[in-house]
Amino acid sequence: MSDTETTTMITPSEVIEHIYCPRFTYYMNVLNIPQFEDRRFKVLKGREVHKRRETENRFYLRKKIGVVDRDLNVYLASPGLGVRGVVDEVLTLEDGSLAPLDYKYSPYREHAFKTHRIQIILYGLLAREAYQKPVTRGYIAYIRSGSRLAEVPIGEAEEITAQQIVAEILDIIQTGRLPKKTPHRAKCGDCCYKNICV
Ligand code: SF4
Repeated sequence: MSDTETTTMITPSEVIEHIYCPRFTYYMNVLNIPQFEDRRFKVLKGREVHKRRETENRFYLRKKIGVVDRDLNVYLASPGLGVRGVVDEVLTLEDGSLAPLDYKYSPYREHAFKTHRIQIILYGLLAREAYQKPVTRGYIAYIRSGSRLAEVPIGEAEEITAQQIVAEILDIIQTGRLPKKTPHRAKCGDCCYKNICV
């Protein structure tokens, strides 16, 4: 998390952490206690693999979903939305709309896809604002599932859901309130905050 002069901005990655457990927001952004680095490893590894794939799969996406152009590693920020981040690719599709694409160094799993969805929706909202072009869908490529491509619709309902989650996170950061523990207590077993989380 970082502050501009007047606006607190969070990243889509922080949104994923929050969905995993709202207390991650509290420990990371209110108390400023970082996580162990092992979770970061997958992100870095994913970027490495992504770079290799850029040359290997240059025409793969073009054929599969009708990409006519793409920008790589695009920094996007919206003070209004309160979100900033770097998306792996912003695709221009045949119909003139844009679609964000993010690579994940993980196999496709349904429960993880639900959280990755919110991240790609946020990238979509950021891209729409930055480029002033329509965005109706985004994509997630799961590198360890043979670059399986998952499509994420981005419409009004998805926008409202994503905005509500961002508002919840900003509220915790601004008020410093301690959120409830995750109801899925199985997550606590290997959580890096388990010794301080009471
Ligand atoms: S120990 Fe459990 S409730 Fe506490 S931060 Fe970790 S996952 Fe969340």
